[in-house]
Amino acid sequence: MFHRLLIVLLPLLFGCVTPESNERAPVSTANPLKVVSTTSMITDLVQQVGGEWVAVHGLMGPGVDPHLFQASEGDVSAMSRADVILYNGLHLEGKMGAIFEQMHERGRNVHAVAGGIASNDLLVSERYSGSFDPHIWFDPGLWQQAAYRVGEILATTDSLHAGAYRARAASYADSVAALFEQAYIDLSVIPENNRVLITSHDAFGYFGRAFDLEVHGLQGISTALEAGTSGIRDLAEFVAENQIPALFLESSISPRGIEAVKEAVMARGFNVSIGGTLYGDALGGPGSPAETYRGMLKTNVETIVRGLTRRPEQS
Ligand SMILES: [Zn+2]
Repeated sequence: MFHRLLIVLLPLLFGCVTPESNERAPVSTANPLKVVSTTSMITDLVQQVGGEWVAVHGLMGPGVDPHLFQASEGDVSAMSRADVILYNGLHLEGKMGAIFEQMHERGRNVHAVAGGIASNDLLVSERYSGSFDPHIWFDPGLWQQAAYRVGEILATTDSLHAGAYRARAASYADSVAALFEQAYIDLSVIPENNRVLITSHDAFGYFGRAFDLEVHGLQGISTALEAGTSGIRDLAEFVAENQIPALFLESSISPRGIEAVKEAVMARGFNVSIGGTLYGDALGGPGSPAETYRGMLKTNVETIVRGLTRRPEQS
């Protein structure tokens, strides 16, 4: 009796380590690929490219700062169960490096979407020597590369739907190009003297490069270091001197720094306004116009046009 019980139990006890059971059942809409992603931009990208064959679990919701985000135990366990783990890379997720390394060592299917981008295409950080600007979703070419890369990763993981992932990645890349073309036209109404974008941190370097805007962030390409009083003073001096009509807040960063710049500008006798809140490192919440990548870009463009075409005396 005991032997019979053992024979019945053994496969149950050790079944999880047999090679057969490590193979995943075929992916279908009822049994989608489990993908864990970090930022909301990547979550949206995976959803678009993966369609009905992926179930995406995004770790960072609206308003979450990826530079400071720390994974919870629940996040790590979600990653351990995932078929694919996708993160931005280039040290955007500054506090998660050790976790990605661990997942990699344990043979997990973990990838940086920025992996494979040639360093020549990247902006170099002025404040952190040897670092590249990680905010690649604001460059059309880089985000297209990210889309193709996600398509390839999904195609390799789930070969059954490889053709569909590649086709969806290509169509997503086309839509990114069209989106940026329209945004370029929309932003062209901003007069030459006002084409300066001042935000909480340097998330908009690629955006500035794509749309011909000079960009100044109060904090550098990471938010890990707060701006000091000299940073606030220098930026205020610049804004007052050049009569830049508006400063912009960011949805994932405290408004305090930019508010301090505004006060310092006003003290210099120039009436600068807060032009609104931009979505730098996170998309908007559910139901908001910036809920998707496309909506985020459009919303940012509208906010910037409104802020930088306003005459100072109207504020
Ligand atoms: Zn950032």
